[in-house]
Amino acid sequence: KLAATETEIQELRAKYNEIDPETIKTFAQFPLSQKTQKALSEAKYTTPTEVQRLSIGHALQGKDVLGAAITGSGKTLAFLIPVLEHLYMNKWSRTDGVGAIIISPTRELAYQIFETLKKIGKYHDFSAGLIIGGKNLKFERTRMDQCNILICTPGRLLQHMDENPLFNATTMEVLVLDEADRCLDMGFQKTLNSIIENFPPDRQTLLFSATQTNTVEDLARLNLKDPVYVGYGTAK
Ligand code: ADP
Ligand code: MG
Repeated sequence: KLAATETEIQELRAKYNEIDPETIKTFAQFPLSQKTQKALSEAKYTTPTEVQRLSIGHALQGKDVLGAAITGSGKTLAFLIPVLEHLYMNKWSRTDGVGAIIISPTRELAYQIFETLKKIGKYHDFSAGLIIGGKNLKFERTRMDQCNILICTPGRLLQHMDENPLFNATTMEVLVLDEADRCLDMGFQKTLNSIIENFPPDRQTLLFSATQTNTVEDLARLNLKDPVYVGYGTAK
């Protein structure tokens, strides 16, 4: 049985301050819940990629992270693992509403994130929803307030914020912006600004992209609190 115990949570939290990315070689060395560890190992994820190794510890500690790493470097797990752990450590339950929102520039990428979440979140008890348009708006409307983790495209998320009285973003504690550079390339900047206005300011923000663009940094500066830069080299 993998029931959430207060003891496990306390033991994990006690290890958060000692995480040293330099000495980490396997996921098992991160203080992660048994539920996450088991799913990772079943999915044959044993060794974190560089962006995962360098960002997961900071994200677990609750810091804002601004990560840049090329396509294929494993950014999805770099944010999905901390999202799952945040909700688990805070004993989030299905009735607690939306705890994390992940924004992705395209439906296809959002769908891929959703598939990865199903794989590594399978032993957790959270509900997740894919809010990407092209599907039944009414169905999304009635269901999305019951989701703990939402994976959304920007336009569709804003549409719900504007039109859906059931949707409440104020419970959200973790915001992920994936492919932030592409979101901006694709002209979503205004949409994103409007979305961000609806979020509680004291959230944790994890922002990942493939490039180190100034526009992304500018966006980050507006919204991140003392972020940890990962993959920005010295050009920061
Ligand atoms: P990115 O978002 O940076 O483009 P993805 O998160 O989509 O990269 O990951 C790229 C591929 O690498 C995926 O097929 C994923 O399953 C695989 N992958 C990610 N992390 C690991 C890991 N730690 N070990 C093995 N494979 C991994
Ligand atoms: Mg990606």
